[in-house]
Amino acid sequence: MAKTFFKWYSYQFCNYNLFGFKDKAIQIEFNEWRSILQHKQILFISLLTAFLYYLFTFLHYQISPTKLLPTMIFWHLYIVPTILLFVALITYLKKHCVLMTSTLIAAPIIAAIANMHIISNIDGYTTYQTELYLIIFWVFTVSGLRLIHSTNTALIIFLIAIINSLIINPMQTDEFVMHMFWMLASLSFGFLGAYLYEDANKKIFLNHKDLEKNATTDNLTGVYNRRKFDEIILYEFDKTKRYKHRFGIIMIDIDYFKSVNDIYGHNVGDKVLIEMSELLKKNIRESDVLIRWGGEEFIIICFEINEESILNLAEKIRKQTEQSSFYKIGKLTLSIGVTLNKSDDDIDSITKRADKALYNVKNSGRNRVEVLL
Ligand code: GH3
Ligand code: MG
Ligand code: MG
Repeated sequence: MAKTFFKWYSYQFCNYNLFGFKDKAIQIEFNEWRSILQHKQILFISLLTAFLYYLFTFLHYQISPTKLLPTMIFWHLYIVPTILLFVALITYLKKHCVLMTSTLIAAPIIAAIANMHIISNIDGYTTYQTELYLIIFWVFTVSGLRLIHSTNTALIIFLIAIINSLIINPMQTDEFVMHMFWMLASLSFGFLGAYLYEDANKKIFLNHKDLEKNATTDNLTGVYNRRKFDEIILYEFDKTKRYKHRFGIIMIDIDYFKSVNDIYGHNVGDKVLIEMSELLKKNIRESDVLIRWGGEEFIIICFEINEESILNLAEKIRKQTEQSSFYKIGKLTLSIGVTLNKSDDDIDSITKRADKALYNVKNSGRNRVEVLL
């Protein structure tokens, strides 16, 4: 029960998307992308802030009234920098997002409470006051917190400050008014800065996604291209070194496709290639990957598969194509070469083997599947 609640809470905490994308899946992807970027920021900012607190303590040690020193040293030397160093440590260890974010939220709230506590021992205006406004700015602009978390943190601090200056340590009216004015100025500038930063990040993220998609997909059919093939296969080879696992490739070439272009024109040829990719997509499993290997050649990468299953799939595709009717041209056939990975394979050897199987089919009349292991 507690575990389920914690899981639900962590999910809400990490993926909550007010101010975010409407599409939840994109929001989750954005959060992950941003959290990788922000690890470094959070690490440096927490170290720098801890250092500045030490410097702050040193400076105030020279000028503060003696009665203030124990409280000031307790908060500014021991508590706040220690929390910040803890944030730096969990960020460095790349620990769970909930712990890192929660501590990063707690640090400025505790620093703000400490500030109010210290100020409560001083009469009238004090140079300590500025720390509170700076904390709000820090939360919004450099903390590395997501907009939703920084806004909530700043609002909590604002609320505590109101309660403190009205009830716990009441201020004089004119002091209170000016205090609220500076708080509101910090809040509004800070929020605007954080909002614009988040917005710019969202745009960069969408551009980055677009660029990645364009670099790895084929313009005509929308399926993955050769670049993605290399990426996946290299990853799979790396995986096979650690775990014993099998994958296979199906290399497909449309028979006599040149004559489609010659007789019906290039546009019809393009439409048929799109139809072909749709047919292939429909016939593979969700986990399989379809690649446009070249002009009228496709490759399917199948994971965790054996010889019998991959041959069945290739034969099913061949038959489906044979029985389908394509735009304007009607009938088409496929030649298919199949292979499975070997322990000493590389990209070149596995594709050459599938290509050789395909070549054998072409040389022996086409419209057939051959496997070469
Ligand atoms: P085979 O049975 O030996 O494979 O004969 P084929 O005619 O299919 O083989 P070949 O490799 O000689 O021809 C492939 C043709 O595919 C040549 C090219 O005109 C056509 N092609 C390649 N890319 C595209 C494309 O993007 N659009 C169109 N319409 N045609 C393409
Ligand atoms: Mg070809
Ligand atoms: Mg061909």
